[in-house]
Amino acid sequence: MEVYNSLTRRVEALKPISNGEIRLYTCGPTVYNYAHIGNFRAYVFEDVLRRAVQFSGMKVRQVMNLTDVDDKTIRGANAEGVPLVEYTKKYKEAFFEDLKKLNIQPAEVYPAATDHIPEMIALVEKLVEKGVAYQSDDKSVYFRVRSFPGYGKLAHIDFDAQRTGLRCAADEYDKENVGDFALWKAWEPSDGPVGWDSPWGRGRPGWHIECSAMSMKYLGETFDLHTGGIDNLFPHHENEIAQAEAATGKPFVKTWMHCAHLKVNGEKMSKSLGNFYTLRDLVEKGYTGREIRYVLVSSHYRSALNFSFDALADARTALQRIDACVDSCTAGAPPDWALKRLEEFSAAVGDDLNMPKALAALFELVHEANSRGGAGVAGVFDRMDEVLGFVRFGRKPAAEIPPEVRRLLDERAAARAAKDWARSDALRDEILSLGWQVKDSKEGQTCTLRT
Ligand code: AMP
Ligand code: ZN
Repeated sequence: MEVYNSLTRRVEALKPISNGEIRLYTCGPTVYNYAHIGNFRAYVFEDVLRRAVQFSGMKVRQVMNLTDVDDKTIRGANAEGVPLVEYTKKYKEAFFEDLKKLNIQPAEVYPAATDHIPEMIALVEKLVEKGVAYQSDDKSVYFRVRSFPGYGKLAHIDFDAQRTGLRCAADEYDKENVGDFALWKAWEPSDGPVGWDSPWGRGRPGWHIECSAMSMKYLGETFDLHTGGIDNLFPHHENEIAQAEAATGKPFVKTWMHCAHLKVNGEKMSKSLGNFYTLRDLVEKGYTGREIRYVLVSSHYRSALNFSFDALADARTALQRIDACVDSCTAGAPPDWALKRLEEFSAAVGDDLNMPKALAALFELVHEANSRGGAGVAGVFDRMDEVLGFVRFGRKPAAEIPPEVRRLLDERAAARAAKDWARSDALRDEILSLGWQVKDSKEGQTCTLRT
């Protein structure tokens, strides 16, 4: 399997550093509200990635953090006058419900930031001891960006060239340099009851330190793969690298992958622009998690995807076509032509998750099964579904076609392929006499209970 690494800007083989297992860290939600489907574009991309890794024969250990302390969660909790944990609990639960609705496989660990404050303090202490972090007059602790020579390597920005300008602009700040970022934020009155004691006084961790501390706790100081939406690349992921590598002296992450944005009318879908839909909004409008998953899975993760209701309507039609075909397929030894489509599918998935190409192989399989008959094809759909997660998931149960009718359908598909129309008509009548009706279209035959 090969993937595009944002760090090297190359497509590279994805191989486990150790134990045949890919250790994967995915930046999770800030639980101050319901996640929108832009966020779910990132989580569905990570789900497809996780499934693809397993599909290609490797194991995976995934960690996704829950950001349950930051400016937004504190503001929300204090506005409602409830403790922070109580405020974030309902959004954590909603998040897990939404994951299920989209058939996203659960990560192995979902660490919450508020359960790992000691680990974060320990990491900040290490950075202070090494002289790469300092407490400023405002009592907050900052990472000294110029002390980490690799700063900018993920975003591919040469900060050395820009440093003089930054220092001039820094005069109005408590920080030595505007690029310096907070590791520990000193308590402010607006934080209300939220705060933890630390060697630097009462306060709370910065957002970036959360991910460095929790990823290293559960995945080790050097691990395989780290992902997120492209907006996380800078500064969040750049800062994660600086914190981790300055503390350990070891490379932090081998491969970084980022998905492009879900857009609405050319702009990023986001809470701040107000142009967002939550999963709940769409479910209320009558769309299913399965249809939404289909839209998110079928695009290339590195291309921007424009959200539209037309795309959801197309998903419904495409899924109906898949369902009708899968209904007519049986288990058993797959024919060679179906195995060829599976090979094309696997190659596309292994080629940096080229899902548009993988779906082309899926639809070619549908087309061929409709015209050649679906004997032995069910298992091929199931194998593809290990990555897709929308073929079997959330389907309305179809009336079970009895084996005798299936046999006649296969025979009829063969007769039609041989242009033996008389035989085809005779078989249709025979199928009808068993209580089932066949319809022909250019996609092939579909069979439903006689009405
Ligand atoms: P946040 O809760 O804002 O930290 O975002 C959680 C995840 O969703 C991160 O990986 C973001 O990069 C990602 N994300 C946010 N908005 C979008 C969007 N419109 N399209 C794709 N990913 C997004
Ligand atoms: Zn993160």
